[in-house]
Amino acid sequence: MAAKDYYQILGVAPDADADTIKKAYRKLARKYHPDVNPGDPSAEERFKSISEAYRVVSDPEQRKRYDAMRNAGAGAGFGGGGGFEGFGFGQPGAGGEWRTVDFGDLGGAEGFNLGDLFSSIFGGRQARGAGARAPRKGADRRVDVRVSFQVAAKGGQVEIRVPLEVECPRCEGKGAEPGTKVETCPQCGGSGSVSLVQGGFAVQRPCPRCYGRGTLIEEPCARCRGEGSVTEPRRVKVRIPALADDGDRIRLRGQGEPGPAGGPPGDLVLTVRVKPDRFFRREGLDIHCTVPITVVQAMLGTKVRVRTIHGTKVEVRVPPGTQNGTRLRLKGQGLERDGQKGDQYVEIQVKVPEKLTAEERELVEQLGQKLGGE
Ligand SMILES: [Zn+2]
Ligand SMILES: [Zn+2]
Repeated sequence: MAAKDYYQILGVAPDADADTIKKAYRKLARKYHPDVNPGDPSAEERFKSISEAYRVVSDPEQRKRYDAMRNAGAGAGFGGGGGFEGFGFGQPGAGGEWRTVDFGDLGGAEGFNLGDLFSSIFGGRQARGAGARAPRKGADRRVDVRVSFQVAAKGGQVEIRVPLEVECPRCEGKGAEPGTKVETCPQCGGSGSVSLVQGGFAVQRPCPRCYGRGTLIEEPCARCRGEGSVTEPRRVKVRIPALADDGDRIRLRGQGEPGPAGGPPGDLVLTVRVKPDRFFRREGLDIHCTVPITVVQAMLGTKVRVRTIHGTKVEVRVPPGTQNGTRLRLKGQGLERDGQKGDQYVEIQVKVPEKLTAEERELVEQLGQKLGGE
């Protein structure tokens, strides 16, 4: 009885995350299900081993124990049949390349310790940190959330879109254009791996023809280009608290990347980006705005209607002889926190006309003489 490598059986990398494993399992289970292959004992056999592999590696506790045993390279029953099967070393990169271990170097050495062999293979991986393959928390995902000045000031709900990798809906994850041919790989017979005899061992490797998929695709899916998955925006509703400032962080637990090896997902960390308002500015609980008036209004006094952050309009009396830059206070029209209320400040900006007609100029000159002007 040879030891089984559950990752190889499922066609996934040993550090594949729970999602990848689930996806791989579903794909294989569909393919080898006895209902789909009536009277085919080899399919049934394979279906059983797929189910067994999935039962172990989909359970974080069982997977942890299995990984520890696998890492140790001992006690897993290796060598029972004079060899072992099933290690797919590494995982395919973007170009479908696999890192491989050259057993030829061992030159059929006799009596070497299997444990040494495994520590030389997995040593690098283990050195990267104990528990690299144990369930762990997924990565945090960081996204900026742009909110209006009003929402940041008074609080509210916004909806954002966060990219998420999902099974391609066009090809249902198969990677093939619908209606085109998907062939079982002739080199590996659909298993996704091939046997090589090296250094006296029968070694299974990912099939170089189909890159471990088990199938050959005639025409890749137009939507996912054969990847089988697409990135789709996930809608996330975010409650923005009142008095949020630009740069504030909001953490949504469990909305980040899925956790490797069945660990809990990471968090979604949002950075608030407040869009500036054309009219309002904010300083703590106080609201500031600028209102232009004419020189004549400044001299004679006037009334202006000013918008507040609360959506109302307030009539403000500008007294005669108001200077440019004067600040008028609207008491209690700012923001509120813990029973404390801010004010709204209206800065008066006196606009001087840039051009005068001949008649206007004459009148202003007359006025200048009257006022003893310069
Ligand atoms: Zn697709
Ligand atoms: Zn193949």
